[in-house]
Amino acid sequence: MMTISYEYEGALYVNLTNRCDCNCVFCLRHNGHKGSIYADDLWLEHEPSREEALADLLARDFSQYRELVFCGFGEPMYRTDDLLWLVDQLKERVPNLPPVRINTNGHANLFLGRDVTPELKGRIDTISISLNGSTPEEYCAVTQPREGTKAWDAMLDFARKCRDYVPHVVMTIVDKDKTPEEIARCRAITEELGVTLRIRAYIPD
Ligand code: SF4
Repeated sequence: MMTISYEYEGALYVNLTNRCDCNCVFCLRHNGHKGSIYADDLWLEHEPSREEALADLLARDFSQYRELVFCGFGEPMYRTDDLLWLVDQLKERVPNLPPVRINTNGHANLFLGRDVTPELKGRIDTISISLNGSTPEEYCAVTQPREGTKAWDAMLDFARKCRDYVPHVVMTIVDKDKTPEEIARCRAITEELGVTLRIRAYIPD
């Protein structure tokens, strides 16, 4: 069975793609395509069309969810156009749609070749960007981005630009394997960018 959306901790999560320009050492995609605790199998046999995803989402009772989250078993912003189309459709059709969040690696402007942040305005309430490291070297060792340290710069620039268009810009790190010095450096980065740092607990597979 193909899972386009699934419930987790009171939120509805949407999975539109398996594609990603990173190869994070902790990525669930390494785990035999199994989606771990989140769903039975999040590996998409094919990418759902926007219409297919809309039909899946319209079958849900949104009054049950505190948030709608685009994340996935890949990088959701590979499908920025479809994602924003879905948000527009849902806002039109679903009264009291819960706040919308994107969980992203922050590389969209790099891999799409344009600045997409203005398009998030009025559509996305929270953008959560994986910071994953306190230096470009540390970041690249963990996430192994296709474009190397360019991806680190692109991610920080993306976060800075999002501030103008998205009410809540959050950057996340996982506490495991981070020294107090690394956490302090991450805090300094997010303070300089004017965004919120969220330190997440590590969730084992
Ligand atoms: S950015 Fe996300 S989907 Fe991409 S490799 Fe890293 S953990 Fe996996």
